[in-house]
Amino acid sequence: MADMSRIDQLKNVVEQNPNDELGQFALGNAYYDAKLFAESGPCFQRVLAINSQNSKAYEMLALTQKMTGHPDLAIQTATNGFRIAHRRGDLMPMKGMENLLRELNAPVPTVVEKTSGSASAAAVASDTAFTCRRCGSTGPQLTKQPFKGALGVTIFESVCQSCWKEWVGQGTKVINELRLPMYDPQAQETYDKHMKEFLLID
Ligand SMILES: [Zn+2]
Repeated sequence: MADMSRIDQLKNVVEQNPNDELGQFALGNAYYDAKLFAESGPCFQRVLAINSQNSKAYEMLALTQKMTGHPDLAIQTATNGFRIAHRRGDLMPMKGMENLLRELNAPVPTVVEKTSGSASAAAVASDTAFTCRRCGSTGPQLTKQPFKGALGVTIFESVCQSCWKEWVGQGTKVINELRLPMYDPQAQETYDKHMKEFLLID
């Protein structure tokens, strides 16, 4: 049975502070439990706009997308989320998204095990071989810098085409969900922060 009083309570919380990650997540869960999937989706989207590393939100968003009849989107979200969960060592969401991908007959991404020497090894090898810092694939690489400046160079040198494409999709959501005015330098800074987190750039 839908617990509408809890939903109303949480709605109040996020209306007061739309960038409250925990509040948005709790509201999304409450909607999901009440089977109000059209409402839970935007909450989890917003959680991810606030914190692109929240692996549990990827899992819940993917489940929501499955429930609303969008298996293609669910696969995309779970694939992305699986990688993030793996990198963060979030075992439960990782397992959950793995199960979801198998259920939807989608491949579970191969993940690169982190070793202490891998960063320097990758740097040494960068002249000869390309390895994407985010997904560990060997390409294809971007054909040119996505934008000017040092960050553009870093991305060109270390992020593969498909990860960049994933970010462009996620970046648009970040702008929309956080209502970032991109002419504002502070908004640009927020956007760059999300981009670096997403692409695993320190
Ligand atoms: Zn990649």
